[in-house]
Amino acid sequence: MPRILDAAWPAGTTAPPGETELAIDEAAAVLARGGLVAIPTETVYGLAAVAIDPDAVRRIFEAKGRPPRNPLIVHVADIDAARALARSWPQSAERLARRFWPGPLTVVVAKREIVPDVVTAGGDTVAIRCPAHPVARRLLERLGRPLAAPSANVSLSVSPTTARHVAESLGERVELILDAGPCDRGIESTVVDCTTSPPRILRPGPIGRAEVEAAIGEAVVDGGATDAILRSPGLTGRHYAPRAPLELSADAPKRAAELVGMGRRVGLVTTDAAFAGEGRRAGAGQLVVRTLPDDPAGFARELYAALHDLDAAEVDAIVVEMPPHDEAWRAVLDRLRRAAVVSTGSELPTPQTSPATKYREEPWRSRETGT
Ligand code: AMP
Ligand code: MG
Repeated sequence: MPRILDAAWPAGTTAPPGETELAIDEAAAVLARGGLVAIPTETVYGLAAVAIDPDAVRRIFEAKGRPPRNPLIVHVADIDAARALARSWPQSAERLARRFWPGPLTVVVAKREIVPDVVTAGGDTVAIRCPAHPVARRLLERLGRPLAAPSANVSLSVSPTTARHVAESLGERVELILDAGPCDRGIESTVVDCTTSPPRILRPGPIGRAEVEAAIGEAVVDGGATDAILRSPGLTGRHYAPRAPLELSADAPKRAAELVGMGRRVGLVTTDAAFAGEGRRAGAGQLVVRTLPDDPAGFARELYAALHDLDAAEVDAIVVEMPPHDEAWRAVLDRLRRAAVVSTGSELPTPQTSPATKYREEPWRSRETGT
């Protein structure tokens, strides 16, 4: 197991406990000599390396089994540190940074020479954000260098929202984990491409489209195409996926009961409090229920932990209640869509139609098990 250090930072306090200070110092030392540290952010835990050290960044790709064509987000302490990495800094980036930093929003801008190609997957642009988590901020200030940090999990699997998720996914491939408890937001940042006019939302996230438009003062368009462009050929859109095949269903309890009736052990994710409670026995199979808050922020905060739990409970299938097709649920719907093998009972904006068995043959499966 990797070393896990307590890095709790009680809400509302400006100085952390002494133990947390020491943990941050130690993390800074590991990073400064080119090592990898998993750090808490308000979105998900990140696997960090010094962004201007190409050898260190290469280790991130190795540890995650991440395709080299998938660029990393660079985390900075403030707007000045972001501008030091950007060849040009459009007004849209300035407005977004002023409005949402520190926070869960990433801007894509033209990169300077100092940003290594390995960070940007050879591209001419760099994705930058200033995280809000006090531990991440203190670490960035202490280190005085930007950190490249994708989610701290094996590529394509469900992102970690606790230190334990990180340890279970990466094991010894990460040297040190700073444990500051569960992440507040629970899903990855909103990514906005500021190199185009109008700017594009490349990935929906905790900051919604209306907020982005209000900050910039103009309408934005949905890109959504980054992953399609950057993914290696032959891979499908599946990402953020649990081990068990996940279905989205307009009538999740009914679908779950059906699968239980077929003798399967089924995980049900629902917002319906009537289903709260631990695994019920039904027929030959078994039902394990996770009840999530029925507001988008609460659902997002707890979703990945529920998926990690259901994988740990070794269910054969996961059925998730289809969220409302509503702008407020957009980021959650995006992650669920990418986690799903199929959806039943309702059309998704971009339906996944591939059969479940297809995914078992895909290369990332073997990467995930380390073979
Ligand atoms: P994550 O997987 O959470 O580390 O987030 C990285 C994601 O940010 C990538 O998968 C891309 O979608 C996006 N991204 C990072 N860098 C760039 C870039 N230079 N241009 C466009 N999108 C980027
Ligand atoms: Mg990730």
